[in-house]
Amino acid sequence: MQQDHRFPGVTEITPTANIRVNAHGGRAKCLQRLVRLGLPVPRTEAIDFRSVSALKSGQTLDFDAIFGRMDPDLPLVSVRPSTAQPDWGGPSTVLNIGMTDRVHAMLRGSIGAAGADAVYARFIQSYALHVARLDPGIFTGRASVADLLRAYEDAMDEPFPQDPGTQLRAVLGAMALAWDGATARLLREARGAPADAGLGLVVQQMVLGVGDRERGESGSGVIQFVSSSEGQPQVTGRYLNQSQGREALLDKVPALYLTRDPRGPSLEDRAPEIFAALQDHGALCRARLREEMQIEFTVSHGRLNILDAVRVKRSARAAVRIAVALATDGIIPEPEAVLRVTPRSLLDVLHRQIDPEARVTPVTTAIAASPGAATGRLVFTAAAAQAAAARDEPCILVRRETTPGDVLGMHASVGILTKRGGVTSHAAVIARGLGLPCVVGASDLVMDRKAGTLTAPSGVVLREGEEVTLDGSTGQLIAGAVPLLQPSMDPALGTLLAWADERRDIGIRANCDTPAEARLADRFEAEGIGLCRTEHMFFEDDRLTLMREMIFAEREQDRRAALDRLLPVQRGDFREIFQIMAGRPVCIRLLDPPLHEFLPTDRAGMAQLATALDLPLSDVQDRIQSLSEVNPMLGMRGVRLGLSVPEIYEMQARAIFEAALATEPRVTPEIMIPLVSARREVELVRARIAAVADAVQAETGETLEYRLGVMVETPRAALRAHEIGEHASFLSFGTNDLTQMTYGLSRDDAGRFMSTYVSQGVFEEDPFLQLDTTGVGELLEIGAERGRTASPDMVLSLCGEHGGDPESIAFCRKLGFSYVSCSPFRVPVARMAAAHLAI
Ligand code: PEP
Ligand code: MG
Repeated sequence: MQQDHRFPGVTEITPTANIRVNAHGGRAKCLQRLVRLGLPVPRTEAIDFRSVSALKSGQTLDFDAIFGRMDPDLPLVSVRPSTAQPDWGGPSTVLNIGMTDRVHAMLRGSIGAAGADAVYARFIQSYALHVARLDPGIFTGRASVADLLRAYEDAMDEPFPQDPGTQLRAVLGAMALAWDGATARLLREARGAPADAGLGLVVQQMVLGVGDRERGESGSGVIQFVSSSEGQPQVTGRYLNQSQGREALLDKVPALYLTRDPRGPSLEDRAPEIFAALQDHGALCRARLREEMQIEFTVSHGRLNILDAVRVKRSARAAVRIAVALATDGIIPEPEAVLRVTPRSLLDVLHRQIDPEARVTPVTTAIAASPGAATGRLVFTAAAAQAAAARDEPCILVRRETTPGDVLGMHASVGILTKRGGVTSHAAVIARGLGLPCVVGASDLVMDRKAGTLTAPSGVVLREGEEVTLDGSTGQLIAGAVPLLQPSMDPALGTLLAWADERRDIGIRANCDTPAEARLADRFEAEGIGLCRTEHMFFEDDRLTLMREMIFAEREQDRRAALDRLLPVQRGDFREIFQIMAGRPVCIRLLDPPLHEFLPTDRAGMAQLATALDLPLSDVQDRIQSLSEVNPMLGMRGVRLGLSVPEIYEMQARAIFEAALATEPRVTPEIMIPLVSARREVELVRARIAAVADAVQAETGETLEYRLGVMVETPRAALRAHEIGEHASFLSFGTNDLTQMTYGLSRDDAGRFMSTYVSQGVFEEDPFLQLDTTGVGELLEIGAERGRTASPDMVLSLCGEHGGDPESIAFCRKLGFSYVSCSPFRVPVARMAAAHLAI
């Protein structure tokens, strides 16, 4: 007989009882597993969701009978919540229900006056707090049981209930109501609970950890066998003799050590057989429950009882180590280990994190654009960042927004904060590539560069040179230094990712602009480079000057002369990248940004340029003025620039070909044309590149192989993919620009209102962060389908920032894309996410 038919809805937890997570909750189910393993669990009854809910409408259970089934020498019970998911919260546990004057007197005889008083006192207070909802202040200054009972009676105008059944009914009813409270509801719904999530309750025979000292060890505690922060085997927990419930966990009480320790007494010393039994139980739980469990236990006059067990809380790093160890020990299969680690959590493993124990008060919170945390001194210009780096001083660079001219300063910083921009703004994209923490869209900060101050709306003023901490995982800026946890690329992560790779069926490449980033891609085992943005190679000082010379050249031959000097530099970069990637595919995008991005914006920079080019300042200013555009992101950039100043793409193609011919093992470079919207653009560029290839082959006598592709990042390119694809061997969807152009939403300005839009439900999620699978996604579907009609072998991929987002990867996989490409630090996340989809 599994269900106790006398009391529908109350089921004793026995090995064969019908206990279900969806009817009784996870705690009840876990307790049943412990019972099945033969662990010494006190008698426990589970009340199902339906019956708990019915308690609110006055339905009742036979509470006296529940007590009738408990130990007559200790007629006390505890009640704990049991929900379908452990992180959905639930009302607080109440211990010692059934404690009355009669039981108090009885306990004085069995465990002594002090113990009996302590148990009664605790119960009166917790009943007052959780059931009668009294202010805990009414007990201040009262210590004796008689005083507490009087305080209760004064506040309630009735004596403390002396009937165990009444007490239990009141506790269960209060817990059922608390589950329906607005805060509890909001909290669990935020954690993914459905609106009708049920609460089960577990009623358990109390075992007292408070006892007669003469009759052996008594106490309570928790124990686990791995470290929650690092995940390595380690006995961790707390034990306190003469204690109950989770008292041992309170910081104010000095707990005992669990294992033998020279610093003081331990459970292992006091009760070695109990400690050994706990170790055995832990090992049994691990092997049979296939999980690292934290065990709550009580020792009562030398007897061990297991009251509860929950999955060990763990940091992201510990989760990886625990999953790998369980699979290595043959307890779970490898694919299950992969599934046990959330892809996004790997970002925490790969970046520095603010120590979760640290208490921080942010000066402001804005958009978290690139994960990780860093402490450094505030600087307001890229030049100041470089100067700080030269002094070996970590710095946080604050800009209104960044431009390619800030890239060297960004390299020199440990974190980047901008007032403007969203998650695909320049600052965000570069920071992710560099693995630097970045916060964008901090529009509430007032920056006064002259005064060297940054003022928050609260009035807090941060000064240039002052130390701050930036957390790109949460979007927080914090004054001063904060303790940080260091990242690790630990062998367990390597193992787990190797298992993930065996299962996934979509390729993962990295977006890398420089040899340094290619090294990162190699370290994170990307299958190749899916996007190399060549513009970032031109920002080192000598290169920038050459670039500017090229831009200022009036005649084609002058332009070519400048480009001839850029050629070896660019060839050198490509060669290094090819070598690092050692035969893996590398896709290089021809120059994309408008030329004015390479020019100075302030007077001092213009004067310097005038000196370098030996031109009057007014000429420099006129030229810069003539290059400025009203809407540069929709202006002369990408292939439009390539067709207007064809020598640039010719130089780049030559650099790519010559680098490829000089690399062993040989690579087949992939060349990609940005911002295409018409077939003819591709035809023209293709012809010029073919001419360069012919010339290089003629000069070297070598045969060149390369692939030419198109970036689909304008809506028209997606719609006309069948004709644009005729001249391309691959199409790579640039979903940053494609999102920007589909929504008509500037990626550099969206940060201003994105949080309003998301909080009001206009957008479910920032579409620059998570692919809009309906609108932009439809263009991807159309582009993919039409592109395949141009050639059935068309290689399709995505290289926007969405490439590192698990939901967006799922969409690309559904469309049959060959690969996605994301910033190097997100490669491990993408590898895991892809494996989750395939398992
Ligand atoms: C894109 O537009 O999606 C892209 C990858 O290119 P960029 O971010 O350099 O514009
Ligand atoms: Mg783009």
